[in-house]
Amino acid sequence: MVAGGYRKSIAFFIVFGACLVAIAVGLNIGWILLNWRESLLLFLGVLLFLVIITGMVLNTVFLVREIRRNEQHDNFINAVTHELKTPVASIRLYLETLQRHDLDEARRREFYAIMLGDSDRLLQTIEQVLRAGKSKSFLHKGQVTSVDMRLLVSDCVALTRLRYNLKPAQVRFQDEFPQDAPVTVRGDAEELRSAVMNLLENAVKYSGDSINVELRLRPLDAGMLAVQVMDQGIGLAPAELKRVFKRFYRVPGTLGARVKGTGLGLFIVKAVARRHGGRAWAASPGVGHGSRFTIELPLS
Ligand code: ADP
Repeated sequence: MVAGGYRKSIAFFIVFGACLVAIAVGLNIGWILLNWRESLLLFLGVLLFLVIITGMVLNTVFLVREIRRNEQHDNFINAVTHELKTPVASIRLYLETLQRHDLDEARRREFYAIMLGDSDRLLQTIEQVLRAGKSKSFLHKGQVTSVDMRLLVSDCVALTRLRYNLKPAQVRFQDEFPQDAPVTVRGDAEELRSAVMNLLENAVKYSGDSINVELRLRPLDAGMLAVQVMDQGIGLAPAELKRVFKRFYRVPGTLGARVKGTGLGLFIVKAVARRHGGRAWAASPGVGHGSRFTIELPLS
């Protein structure tokens, strides 16, 4: 409903802007035809009209951008509220059941496991929002350690399999470094973990039913390493490859829009890569053909 309203007002501003430009151009041409002798005035008039038209175009562009940004903020608030409310409601329901009924030990253990899963989800959302808030700050000295990336990514792969109940063949880990070579990066282990987890979780989330994900750890030239996460999921159109890294941005109108999310994950991935002296980027052969997300980091 809200999105529909915004789209209507965007259309209104575009049509309004286009009409104003057309009227201004018409007036300008008429005015030139009537006053062609008075060349100085003509020149000034043309200049003034150009200024007015530029102003109107800029104004329309600015308005449309603002409306889009508001729309994304609204979507974000809705998504975060949902992500916070659902696990709390679920935990509450299980606690009430435990309080009211005498359940056997096995059932109780099952409920505890579900509640732990829900509280993990809650913590994840909160951490995501906090991380997005501090994404522009620099790494503090105290946070920087020597991080074993081989260990870190294999932990992330194992956690993803566990969290989504997947087989090893569905989320594979391929280490392309020579077996004994150390693969270390100077940085904040928690941030790097959250960036890799965001990529793996997206690969699973945006794969639909057939999950086929691979994480590759590979050496690059000039002392860099790449963490690549590839999936055979819904893929991305060329125009979306950069946009998906913007804060709050979620690709509209696809299967992806039905998947719950806040639009913060890739923004965090990019910010973490930058803070570690690297970069993050996406590639995809097109919608429906899977995607590949890469984080490049300097080796220590
Ligand atoms: P979220 O997943 O919470 O929406 P992200 O910042 O992680 O936020 O991703 C932004 C958008 O990029 C997603 O909404 C989705 O449309 C798109 N996207 C991310 N990862 C993938 C992927 N592996 N395949 C296809 N689309 C993706």
